[in-house]
Amino acid sequence: MEELSTSRDPGKLRGILDYLGMPAFVIDVISPHEFRLAAINARHEQITGMCHEQVAGRDIDELLDRFTAATVKASYRRCVQAKAATDYQETLDLPAGRTYWQTTLVPFLDKAGTVTRLLGTAHEISSQVHLELEARYQATVMSAYLEESPDGILVVDARHRMKTWNRRFLDMWKIPDEIMESRDGDAALQAVREQLAEPKAFVRRVSELYTALDEEEQGVRVPMKDGRVLQRFSRGLEGPDGDYWGRIWFYRDITEQELLTGELIRMSRTDPLTGAANRRAFMVALDEEYARARRYGHELAVLMLDVDHFKRINDHHGHAAGDQALKNLVRLVAPEMRATDCFARMGGEEFAVLLPETGLDAARNLAERLRDAAAGLSLTSEKGEFGITVSIGVAQLQAQDTEPEELLNRADRCLYTAKSEGRNRVFP
Ligand code: GH3
Ligand code: MG
Ligand code: MG
Repeated sequence: MEELSTSRDPGKLRGILDYLGMPAFVIDVISPHEFRLAAINARHEQITGMCHEQVAGRDIDELLDRFTAATVKASYRRCVQAKAATDYQETLDLPAGRTYWQTTLVPFLDKAGTVTRLLGTAHEISSQVHLELEARYQATVMSAYLEESPDGILVVDARHRMKTWNRRFLDMWKIPDEIMESRDGDAALQAVREQLAEPKAFVRRVSELYTALDEEEQGVRVPMKDGRVLQRFSRGLEGPDGDYWGRIWFYRDITEQELLTGELIRMSRTDPLTGAANRRAFMVALDEEYARARRYGHELAVLMLDVDHFKRINDHHGHAAGDQALKNLVRLVAPEMRATDCFARMGGEEFAVLLPETGLDAARNLAERLRDAAAGLSLTSEKGEFGITVSIGVAQLQAQDTEPEELLNRADRCLYTAKSEGRNRVFP
């Protein structure tokens, strides 16, 4: 130790330093601003690529770039002033990549109490620093995910404590601040009850999921009392040993999407001029009702309705008046329908009515009422007042029918007969 503090022989110093199993160096303190490297050991050489022979006795300013020299000299100065062991961290860029070191400086004092020499020993903390950097990176990415996500996100641990959530979650669920701050997941679950359209089912399912690690949810519909619709996704969180760490919940607001989808579906089934169902919707309903009637042995009837001499109306009163007549006809006829009936515009001035659980007599009665109502319509155009009449063909499902189109075709043929027998009539 004596020699380490006083020896002026670089070779001897190096020999002593080599006993330390870590990179080590000795600094001679010339003044608070001038530091000379007295010796480095073999481990130091290995790591820094410096060579003891070449660096021993040289000024730190000569050996390191300006920035690094200023930094290490500041640490040396700190140790000199403190007259006590001092730690500092430094980075070293090696061919294999950046390394991180923790260096400890120990001061040697002369008899007057002045620090004349420093012993530096370094140990590598790269893996620790890399872990810290990685953790910091993960945390940054995580909070970006959380904050930028359009979903409301909540993480609850196995003891039902709320671990983390994002702003969107708070916006979506109006849970009082004091409950969020208490982190009590069960209290939060109770607090959202009154916002839910189906609170019992929600609470039951959520409680059930807390005990089921393996269960995943992919878009369960959660209707809210205020008309919003949320969609829930969730999965259990598994610890490294397969233990249950809790659950992550995602809530997505799909209100707009559902409204839009509903509107698109409605539009795809509706005739834009009259608001009646369109041919496509009618054919779907016909298929369904045909299958049902067959399965249960129920009756099923169809009316085919066509406006008489509509071409003349168009020609005399104009196309707009023709359109108006079609709209008025639908407005008049629609209230006569049951909820299970399907009244559709099949094209042009031709309409069809699907009548589940209806036999021929009841269908003909309805047809007669519709014919009568249409004949009573009073319409006006620039050319004056006008009325319309309709002809209707009626058909009912028969035992020998093998597909729904047969029923439809029969109604069509009956319509043709009604036309040829003079129009403004129901056939049969
Ligand atoms: P019939 O009594 O034999 O049914 O005679 P009609 O004139 O009604 O029959 P036709 O099939 O010859 O003519 C149907 C007319 O309906 C021709 C077409 O201009 C008119 N039409 C079809 N679709 C529309 C529409 O959306 N609006 C209007 N204003 N007219 C339409
Ligand atoms: Mg016609
Ligand atoms: Mg026609």
